Amino acid sequence: MKTINGKLIATKLNSNLKSKVSYLKKKHKIQPKLVVILVGKNPASEVYVRNKSIKAAEVGIKSVIKRLDAKITEEEILKLISIYNQDNEIDGILVQLPIPMHIRSEKVIDSISFEKDVDGFNSKNIGLLALGRPHVIPCTPLGCLKLLQEELNLSGKDVIIIGRSNIVGKPLSLLLTSENATVTLAHSKTKNLKNLCRNKDVIIAATGIPKMVKKDWVNNKSIIIDVGINQILDNNKNKILVGDVDFASVFSKVKAITPVPGGVGPMTIHCLLQNTFDLALKRRNIKEV
Ligand code: NDP
Repeated sequence: MKTINGKLIATKLNSNLKSKVSYLKKKHKIQPKLVVILVGKNPASEVYVRNKSIKAAEVGIKSVIKRLDAKITEEEILKLISIYNQDNEIDGILVQLPIPMHIRSEKVIDSISFEKDVDGFNSKNIGLLALGRPHVIPCTPLGCLKLLQEELNLSGKDVIIIGRSNIVGKPLSLLLTSENATVTLAHSKTKNLKNLCRNKDVIIAATGIPKMVKKDWVNNKSIIIDVGINQILDNNKNKILVGDVDFASVFSKVKAITPVPGGVGPMTIHCLLQNTFDLALKRRNIKEV
């Protein structure tokens, strides 16, 4: 039993990235720039966006939060993204999801140039990932991969991912397949989920259901990656964050597990910054710094 300390791993990776950003600035006079588009006033999104911009500043990446009124039209957002696509100063464009229902999120995401699609969510980038020649890898899946690579060689390992969303489960299944893992992608219609999990080397939970994965779903060689971030009330009615895994009961049984908070979350932000940096180099055809 061991906790996989995503916060510590992300801190080390961010420190390494900071040196590279500083070198890029010195040698090429380039400071990577990220634009985050936030539509409306979703409290959770506000927190995520603020954390992203604090970490960006820490590693020396410029970040701008573009706040838009919840009533903005789809056409207006598309126009704004088109301006950002052409702005040579901008390396990464991110639209914080969810966005209001009257705007089609697929249309908005697909309007971001694939070369600036720092989240890697648009159809061209997902297509390239599926073909095994990624241009940008979505941040949370990439963060999960980096955490797993600290623990084991994925080749030939049996992995189950619970949750098939376009932003976590699906791209993660493509990524881990490319790493030669044997991947089961489970979802709400999957039968006998508990039994499917029991014999796996790796279980990744990304459902948004608090404490769903229990002690009798895991074995003593399991490595658990908990992507979930859920706010619940504790016994004293205080708001706390928990994952999709019942950490307290599972921890003593498994080989290793990520905590919530402090596991996947910090790695997602690290990967966003790393992606911004990588896109800044790729767009200018700079090989390595
Ligand atoms: P979605 O709601 O988009 O997807 C949830 C997935 O879980 C769906 O595929 C759904 O299946 C599946 N699911 C729901 N109920 C069950 C069930 N009973 N059994 C098996 N599968 C089920 O969620 P996201 O992928 O956006 O997010 C998942 C979690 O990860 C959330 O807690 C979110 O907050 C967190 N998150 C954390 C991030 C981080 O950086 N740590 C980043 C992004 C998300 P179906 O497709 O059949 O409906």
